[in-house]
Amino acid sequence: MPTPAATTASQPIIIRMHERDNVAIVANDGGLPSGTQLPDGLVLVNAVPQGHKVALVDLKAATPVLRYGIPIGYALKDIPAGSWVHERLLDMPSARSLDNLPIATVKPAPMPALEGYTFEGFRNADGSVGTRNILAITQTVQCVAGVTDFAVQRIKAELLPRFPNVDDVVALEHGYGCGVAIDAPDAIIPIRTLRNISLNPNFGGEVMVVSLGCEKLQPERLLPPGSIPLIDVRNGTDNAPAPLDVVCLQDDAHVGFMSMVESIMRQAEQHLQRLNARRRETVPASELVVGVQCGGSDAFSGVTANPAVGFCTDLLVRAGASVMFSETTEVRDGIDQLTSRATTPEVAQAMIREMAWYDAYLQRGGADRSANTTPGNKKGGLSNIVEKAMGSIVKSGSAPIANVLSPGEKLKAKGLTYAATPASDFICGTLQLAGGMNLHVFTTGRGTPYGLAAVPVIKVATRTDLARRWHDLMDINAGTIATGEKTIENVGWELFEMMLEVASGRKKTWAEHWKLHNALVLFNPAPIT
Ligand code: CA
Repeated sequence: MPTPAATTASQPIIIRMHERDNVAIVANDGGLPSGTQLPDGLVLVNAVPQGHKVALVDLKAATPVLRYGIPIGYALKDIPAGSWVHERLLDMPSARSLDNLPIATVKPAPMPALEGYTFEGFRNADGSVGTRNILAITQTVQCVAGVTDFAVQRIKAELLPRFPNVDDVVALEHGYGCGVAIDAPDAIIPIRTLRNISLNPNFGGEVMVVSLGCEKLQPERLLPPGSIPLIDVRNGTDNAPAPLDVVCLQDDAHVGFMSMVESIMRQAEQHLQRLNARRRETVPASELVVGVQCGGSDAFSGVTANPAVGFCTDLLVRAGASVMFSETTEVRDGIDQLTSRATTPEVAQAMIREMAWYDAYLQRGGADRSANTTPGNKKGGLSNIVEKAMGSIVKSGSAPIANVLSPGEKLKAKGLTYAATPASDFICGTLQLAGGMNLHVFTTGRGTPYGLAAVPVIKVATRTDLARRWHDLMDINAGTIATGEKTIENVGWELFEMMLEVASGRKKTWAEHWKLHNALVLFNPAPIT
């Protein structure tokens, strides 16, 4: 790994997460050589890379290796104190059964309300608030993507300069709509995901659709009457909603490609005029809907960035905001921590239902949760999914879990929500957008340039070395927690304050600055025909 200008701290730094732990991780950039004497006198038997574990005591074969106070694996052979404890020395524990879990047993003292924090947002007709003012063009099927993209390029070049209060025009491209088993039970997931993304607060309720004509996912099935609040408001009545704004490429009226493009541009202009008339207004921080996730994780994810995000999650909940945490395979091994934190037995049962559904989904595909960890995770020191999950769950902070969303559902409640999604960065982000996310926080240790077109993404680096090398991609450096320069609380507050600046449009994230936009990726567990 290249480490230009890296400063190797003169003092060896190791981090132990829990008093029960019999391993700790090496924090120093570049790792530590064999023979290094640690602060407690222990001498390293092997060289240990940064982020990797060292045995603090002699570990006999078959004894549990403890990190975060829980067994992340069992020693496959005797491991002397001072040894590098890597994944090949560990046998992974089996997944916690979904039976006999603690249900809503933790009753934390109520957290003091955090009052007086505001941001400047775009208030929508349905009461939600956008952090950006974007025209989104919904598509019913992949077939129309090329035409829509062509039209969007012209809209940006020819129309957008006339509407300075509109931030961007975004084509909601995806692969669904044709060749799908649309009546299969699980097809509800991609369909409601697309519907709810079209209604994301950053799009101001200005829904327009480009359709091919012959696709299985017809516009009326995607957005049935009554599903778009603004149309109903504009019409002034519930029983006569305005018709859905659809440009259908197979319409007889279109003769030639340019007729389609100009039709899309004509419709877009009407929406741009209305969006352009909107102004930011001061709204309470409780209007934030934040999705948190991680990608390219390393052993520092659960030590620096994710705990800081967890502290910030608590601040957001105290401010009355909504926070979604997700990534089912990365929290599955901590299910008992989650069900015990549920506000009610119903919330705990909903979490168990989602995890059971996902267990069955993986089993149907001949896999299990162990398929989650990547070569990069392991190189970064994460031995297996149990260790990764313990570091991932901390993003959810300590607040009670008040609500559960199935994949693609739209959030209706404040507080902390478990939004069930795969851990895939793009699928998770897409499903959190459907949930109504208006701000995204993403932590990374290995480094990923992740970004979404629809919502600002604040990226948090787990290590100072990554933040230094990727200085124009990472928004916050949580690596300062590992070196002792800052506390989890410092970085958590820094993130909270940055969120209000970004949400207000006063600050752009690096992903926005460079326009780094990853694809929307739908979660479709239903068959393709
Ligand atoms: Ca992820």
